[in-house]
Amino acid sequence: ERNSILNLNPGPSSLPLPVLEEAARGLLNFNGTGMGITEISHRSKEFQALTNDLVARIRALLSVPDTHEILFTQGGASLVFSTIALNLLARFRLLHPNLPLSEVSADYVVTGVWSKKAYEEAKRLVQHTGVNVRIAADGRTESEDGKSFQSVPSKDKYQFGPADKTAWIYYCENETVNGVQFASAPEDPAAFPLDAALGPPQHTTIDPPLVADFSSSFLSRPIPQIERHALIYGGAQKNIGPAGLTIIIVRKDLLVDVDAAHTLGGCPPCPLTLSFQTLAESGSLYNTPPMFSMYVSDLVLKDLQAKGGLSVVEENNRQKQQVVYGVLEKMEEAGIIQLNVKPGSRSWMNVTFIFHDPALGARFVKEAEAKGLRGVKGHRSVGGFRLSLYNAITLENARTVAGFLEEFLASTK
Ligand code: PMP
Repeated sequence: ERNSILNLNPGPSSLPLPVLEEAARGLLNFNGTGMGITEISHRSKEFQALTNDLVARIRALLSVPDTHEILFTQGGASLVFSTIALNLLARFRLLHPNLPLSEVSADYVVTGVWSKKAYEEAKRLVQHTGVNVRIAADGRTESEDGKSFQSVPSKDKYQFGPADKTAWIYYCENETVNGVQFASAPEDPAAFPLDAALGPPQHTTIDPPLVADFSSSFLSRPIPQIERHALIYGGAQKNIGPAGLTIIIVRKDLLVDVDAAHTLGGCPPCPLTLSFQTLAESGSLYNTPPMFSMYVSDLVLKDLQAKGGLSVVEENNRQKQQVVYGVLEKMEEAGIIQLNVKPGSRSWMNVTFIFHDPALGARFVKEAEAKGLRGVKGHRSVGGFRLSLYNAITLENARTVAGFLEEFLASTK
């Protein structure tokens, strides 16, 4: 029974019930066409209208400036790891056709498993060209054991290459597995640790381009200084909709002719389906897009706007995590658990911790299960526990989680 379950999975994750009910109707009859959303043509005027609507909603919700395009693609966020390397190297090559690539770097800020994967993929794809794909800051160096991800590197720890020889700078805003988030207050831009990488405000083309993975924090709160990022992307399957859709917000100067760059030499060929320029020129309809995923995402965004937009969502998410971390901090003081991440870098979306006593952890899982809480175990690569508080989890749901944690704490005394 759906309403006796609290789905805290890290993604795919829960979606608002009214949205799912409407989507069920759209599967049978989309917008009065007499055909379901998975049955109509992706080139029909109805689907074109949906695509435009989705772009407009994302643009409005996140205040995406006109300097940036909004693209839709498939292959998940993981494929964007590859797409970034191929397109951004091509862009750099076209801008600097005579500079030996051995003098160029691609700088990764590694704060958890996803940014590490993105770094490794870029290395696989372009290191052979001579480009130095490197870690410009590593969250692990400031952790107690030197190997776990406990915080975002502090401001003085970033070692970027010179601006004219850095093809891109990359970070992951929210590390879903580790629970590390760039928690800089949107209201205080100077608190953003990557401030130095942003370039002067007001500029529309800044080198090196700053690239960010927002997969698990997309639409959970406004994106501070969105206009100073060259590329922001995320898979849909956390806050936005079903898996299958990836959203890419990309500054227009990143839409380059990948074939021309390949011809110049140095750059590997880039599949056309991965070329930002191809996606942009075709209005994200170069080939058949993930139509159902786009449809449900559009409904989710409509619902989100009806609830008051991102400032309301942000306030809600702020309170949700406060309620949950509040009890976990008490459990930490009682010596039962340890929060994996240091204050200041704790994710609003993915709350991670371990039990000191594995037997207590096992009891926790059992009792959570009995209470209808699902998806509380940590990622298989790190173990421990993780509670994911995406948008579809309400403040009331978060209070239910906190109540369960309180009861569990009391039961250990
Ligand atoms: N980046 C982040 C931050 C993620 O959380 C995930 C998936 N959980 C990925 C990338 C990879 O996404 P996908 O499964 O869509 O390839």
